[in-house]
Amino acid sequence: MSIRGNLETVERRISAACERAGRKRGEVKLVAVSKTKPVEAVLEAAGAGQILFGENRVQEAQSKIPLCPGSLQWHLIGHLQSNKARIAASGLFRMIHSVDSVKLIHALDEYTAVPLPVLIQVNVSGEGSKEGCAPAEAAALIESANGSSRIEVHGLMTIPPFTPDPEKARIHFSNLWKLRDRLQQETGTPLPELSMGMSHDFEIAIEEGATFIRVGSDIFGNR
Ligand SMILES: *Cc1c(COP(=O)(O)O)cnc(C)c1O
Repeated sequence: MSIRGNLETVERRISAACERAGRKRGEVKLVAVSKTKPVEAVLEAAGAGQILFGENRVQEAQSKIPLCPGSLQWHLIGHLQSNKARIAASGLFRMIHSVDSVKLIHALDEYTAVPLPVLIQVNVSGEGSKEGCAPAEAAALIESANGSSRIEVHGLMTIPPFTPDPEKARIHFSNLWKLRDRLQQETGTPLPELSMGMSHDFEIAIEEGATFIRVGSDIFGNR
């Protein structure tokens, strides 16, 4: 299958999931995750109309993005260490999905020259990866960003533990939705965006309220 064909299939799956969930297609934005894939693959997806791309490593993005058309939009979706904050905040990315510490918020705020939209990555399951803050820490991170000069929190992101049965991820997606509602109340900060769902579980994430889905292998092939 071509990247164009894969994008069409993913598009049909997104539309079907939106329909099942009674949501409008426009409420869900597809982030095409091009990590490990060459510029040619990005250009092929761009030629098929894809504008929004995601990378998970700052260094790879730093070498790839300048070789791509300036009309494309890039989000950083992978774990970010404070020592890479300067590059991450240098204008490569329109949004960073993986902010999970106050230290990182301070570092990004120090280096960005313009308002920088971010999502707070939360480890809602408490299992698996150490990435993402604990649900109980999220309010403090939002307050820290609200007190910063240029870091704007637009919502939350999560990566549930991998399970072969994507239905098992549903509870984590719905928990992120509930946490978002609670944090909006608690902090008075609008949190419209929920970044959740990858190739094998994005339909379930859409049913549970995702506004960004991050899809790599189902568009670009296995890594
Ligand atoms: C790689 C990656 C994805 C995409 O994963 P696929 O299973 O290939 O769709 C999504 N989110 C993050 C944070 C990733 O690192």
